[in-house]
Amino acid sequence: MFLEKLKCAKCKREIGENENITITTNRKKLKGITNLNSWAKTQKVLCENCSK
Ligand SMILES: [Zn+2]
Repeated sequence: MFLEKLKCAKCKREIGENENITITTNRKKLKGITNLNSWAKTQKVLCENCSK
């Protein structure tokens, strides 16, 4: 499951399955990604509230 155990980098809240998220990353880092789920966990992720 894509959003499993992702946490918001700002409020440290665990992000629910049906929440929208914002991933802060550099375009260059998207090159060669084969596993989006494990990649997302290494990035700065913001929950819907914090990304506004
Ligand atoms: Zn948050």
